[in-house]
Amino acid sequence: MTEVIATNETILVVGGGISGMTAALEAAETGKQVVLVEKRPYVGGRTAQLYKYFPKLCFPTCGLEINQRRAKMNPGLNILTMAEVTDITGEAGDYTATVKLSPRYVNENCTACGDCADAVEAEFDNEFNYNLNQRKGAYLPYTMAHPQRYVLDPRIIGTADADKAKAACKYGAVDLDMQEETIEFKAGAVIWATGWQPYDANKIQPYGYDRIANVITSVEFERMMDPQGPTGGKLVRPSDGKEAKDVAFIQCAGSRDQNHLLHCSRICCMATLKQTTYVDESWGDQGKSTVYYIDIRAIDRFEDFYKKVQDNPNVSFIKSKVASIVEDKATGNPVLHGVDTEGYNRYASPHDLVVLAIGMQPSVDRDRFPVDIVINAEGFIEPAPENGGIFAAGSASDALDVNRAVQHATGAALRAIQVVNRVAGMEG
Ligand SMILES: Cc1cc2nc3c(=O)[nH]c(=O)nc-3n(C[C@H](O)[C@H](O)[C@H](O)COP(=O)(O)OP(=O)(O)OC[C@H]3O[C@@H](n4cnc5c(N)ncnc54)[C@H](O)[C@@H]3O)c2cc1C
Ligand code: SF4
Repeated sequence: MTEVIATNETILVVGGGISGMTAALEAAETGKQVVLVEKRPYVGGRTAQLYKYFPKLCFPTCGLEINQRRAKMNPGLNILTMAEVTDITGEAGDYTATVKLSPRYVNENCTACGDCADAVEAEFDNEFNYNLNQRKGAYLPYTMAHPQRYVLDPRIIGTADADKAKAACKYGAVDLDMQEETIEFKAGAVIWATGWQPYDANKIQPYGYDRIANVITSVEFERMMDPQGPTGGKLVRPSDGKEAKDVAFIQCAGSRDQNHLLHCSRICCMATLKQTTYVDESWGDQGKSTVYYIDIRAIDRFEDFYKKVQDNPNVSFIKSKVASIVEDKATGNPVLHGVDTEGYNRYASPHDLVVLAIGMQPSVDRDRFPVDIVINAEGFIEPAPENGGIFAAGSASDALDVNRAVQHATGAALRAIQVVNRVAGMEG
């Protein structure tokens, strides 16, 4: 049975992305006891799935590694992975959380040697790569995953593969008797950092994501460009594996649209500007990026980045909301149709590959919050007094980039610390 030592001076953090990790670490480093609950088998969230970060174009592993090191060094921070909060009752200073823990089937003896993965045969869609390739039934979600511990997919439990994994492990780390558990513990304040999910591109029917192989999303493009991703970092077309040198980016795919998400996802413009540099990195002057946009939202320090991309002769910008995409069956090229709103010219432009700059929406549906909390029309958490000791952090509150998410999470940690300090004051 998993034991969690917690009191009503403990801070519960829900979600272990960059925001949840930041909030948890900032609070733990002031001496608070923190329990972080993450539903995936590892922390890092969607940031871990990016190839590079704007604006500096460094790899997200750097920032994540620092956080992982801070987490390992802090005895006040207890991280529960494969865990979900199913209920929160009580009030500021006195909450009780119910958490469901799913079995990993691998204990802390794991050295991440990978022998279990070599032994099993079954393969499943690789969620880390947005299902663009497959992974084994025993797997490490990604090389830098924290904790560095393999996972057995529940679908192999009870099959010969599970026994093979157990037999292959020299360290006695595979434990097929692990069961789902439900635990309860106290907390004085809660930080809600469950982040975002990409808008479902299948819903944008005119863009043909569900039927044209060479139409992909911006999050898939991040994985494709990563050397550890599904194509080993090669910029190729999903339909035939041919080099994709002429890439179109469609802005506001599913955002600022009354049929889809009403809000501006803010990140997508910068994500696309960054992704044009990936095309450059792959092909240099042989590559071509075309950005179809309504307007580019690159504010503050991002303006310089935008200017640099505009100065690149391999990148062109077409002011237009693309009306539809059809596939040229002979070439596999997606052909974009629309009107250029600067010259008022109709176009029908073929490209090797189309990347939809997909919107960001909250990862938790409004009717699936395990606690009463004020949520705005877009489903993001509002900073309302009615929320008591529950504070949103990062992109659970809005579509934020990493820098803003981290700042927001630090603020949430401070608010939570104030609540548990009041409890400590009353008890002391
Ligand atoms: C295409 C694209 C490219 C981007 N590129 C950049 C970039 O270059 N630079 C930049 O600054 N930003 C970029 N961003 C934005 C960046 O991804 C976000 O700022 C960042 O992920 C926010 O982190 P977060 O922790 O708030 O949310 P997330 O990364 O979504 O983390 C939330 C965590 O909560 C967990 N969780 C969810 N629900 C539950 C639950 N019920 N219980 C427990 N845990 C739960 C999730 O598993 C996840 O680990 C990009 C976004 C997109 C769409
Ligand atoms: S579970 Fe065992 S075999 Fe698999 S990676 Fe861990 S130590 Fe190696």
